[in-house]
Amino acid sequence: MEMGEKQAYNTSRLEASIQMLEGQIPRAPAGWRRLLRRLIVQLRAVAGPTRSNSFILGGLSEEGQKVGFLVSEPEDRVLVGILRKTEAASKNTCSNCARPGKTHEVGGEPLILCPRCYAPHLLRQQLALWIEKDLTHKHESIVMRSDLPPVIEPIVRADRWRTFKPGLSAPPVEYITPGDLQELRADFDKVYAHVSALI
Ligand SMILES: [Zn+2]
Repeated sequence: MEMGEKQAYNTSRLEASIQMLEGQIPRAPAGWRRLLRRLIVQLRAVAGPTRSNSFILGGLSEEGQKVGFLVSEPEDRVLVGILRKTEAASKNTCSNCARPGKTHEVGGEPLILCPRCYAPHLLRQQLALWIEKDLTHKHESIVMRSDLPPVIEPIVRADRWRTFKPGLSAPPVEYITPGDLQELRADFDKVYAHVSALI
């Protein structure tokens, strides 16, 4: 018997699909590996002779940011059910750490992340925006503490804030001058580098 024939005889189309999906696990994001391993176990459990001609396409997308399947027998409820559940689970599972997550836009790409794993991305985005828009181009006017994005504000050291009283009975308003902000540029860049290293 030729090698090719033997392989065709031993490996059903479904088993070949399962092996293809199994081969995707090493390049899957860490948070999704367990659900993909569970998928393989579930598929093998139902891969009897009656399904040997079924096959599955898809799985993890090229960029590793999405899970989706196509199945040759869409009326096979068991197979479709297993695949659909995996797909749904991936949409609610942080691709980084497997905690509950949802879709977030990161660098123009949709990523499924939990709040904790999304936080450094969000901070980095806001810092980048702040450094680019405000720190680089705002040389003229003072910046009110209340106008600073909440993630930026803690980076400004306490002794940098100045105050003025807008009226006799009004509470003092805290602000920072463009010059002081420019001096803090190094602090912002340092925090940006730290946050970037976390991602
Ligand atoms: Zn996470």
